[in-house]
Amino acid sequence: MTKTQGHHQAVESMQKLTITIDGPAGSGKSSVARRVAALLGYSYLDSGAMYRALALKALERNVPPNSDASLEALAKETHIELKPPTPECEAVGAKNRVFLDGREVTNEIRTAEVAQAASQLATIAAVRRVLVAEQQRAGGGGGVVMEGRDIGTVVFPHAELKIFLDASPEVRAERRWKEHQEKGEAFTLSQVLDEVHERDRRDRERKVSPLVRAKDAVLVDNTAMGIEETARLIVMLAGERQKEAPVCAAKKV
Ligand code: C5P
Repeated sequence: MTKTQGHHQAVESMQKLTITIDGPAGSGKSSVARRVAALLGYSYLDSGAMYRALALKALERNVPPNSDASLEALAKETHIELKPPTPECEAVGAKNRVFLDGREVTNEIRTAEVAQAASQLATIAAVRRVLVAEQQRAGGGGGVVMEGRDIGTVVFPHAELKIFLDASPEVRAERRWKEHQEKGEAFTLSQVLDEVHERDRRDRERKVSPLVRAKDAVLVDNTAMGIEETARLIVMLAGERQKEAPVCAAKKV
């Protein structure tokens, strides 16, 4: 056996972990989670895209953001699918490809209006129940990096590695502002800072599944760190968890 074959067998025989990355808007979750998944050969799932896709449907149908029963019914009759991005999508920074009832909405869900609507319907417990069940089904097999707000606390409370990613509000707003600039959207930095503050407040203060650090999550502040550095730190932590994890441990959701 060559050294490379031996290495591959060792990697293959290692347990595939469930890695959760939670944090506020602009903390770098998506870029970091995608990079971690690529480095480990895991799949990447963006749970926020599900809230955004449902919000887009609600906006299109003029369902008011505070009508809990209608939004729950809408969530139940909606089929949202996340697929890996094509290389072309990846080149322009797309995360997962997102399909809403079979229609691709990958780009349409990336607007400030949809983000605000998503954070409003994400306060409704019954809506969350439907989407959480869907996320557990999609990521249940392990070998996955899932990012969001409640992945380590609610969706996969038994995940082997949980990360809480954060950065200063100014740096987070600046990252979001740059994304808008790249898409040719004319927002000022202070408008973006207000939007980030408003969404963070709603996400942290809501009664159901608020954005909090799970007790056993590793806090990573990447205010002064790049994507690659942050991703490699997480991959290193994953390597340590893999050494600790029993190879045939039963998977718990
Ligand atoms: O992650 P992203 O910014 O795309 O998420 C959009 C909104 O969806 C968030 O502001 C949050 O309100 C909601 N969300 C959530 N729980 C998740 C992922 C996203 O409440 N796991």
